[in-house]
Amino acid sequence: MAQAAAPTPFAPPLAQPIPLREIAPWAVLAGLVLLLAMYFVSTEQGAIALLDGTGVHEFVHDARHLLGFPCH
Ligand SMILES: [Zn+2]
Repeated sequence: MAQAAAPTPFAPPLAQPIPLREIAPWAVLAGLVLLLAMYFVSTEQGAIALLDGTGVHEFVHDARHLLGFPCH
């Protein structure tokens, strides 16, 4: 008769908490990048044009419509 293998003690590694002070600068950076992306999708070459031409508008055109921002 075969015996079941003895259970091996397995302890998954514990997740180490990341201090808020280490996350905060990255969270601020991510927020700024997201705000910049949102500006280009929602406003640039629409209501306001900081850049000449229509390159940015054409690049983000589908995203603008997808997110419901007025376009044309
Ligand atoms: Zn459009």
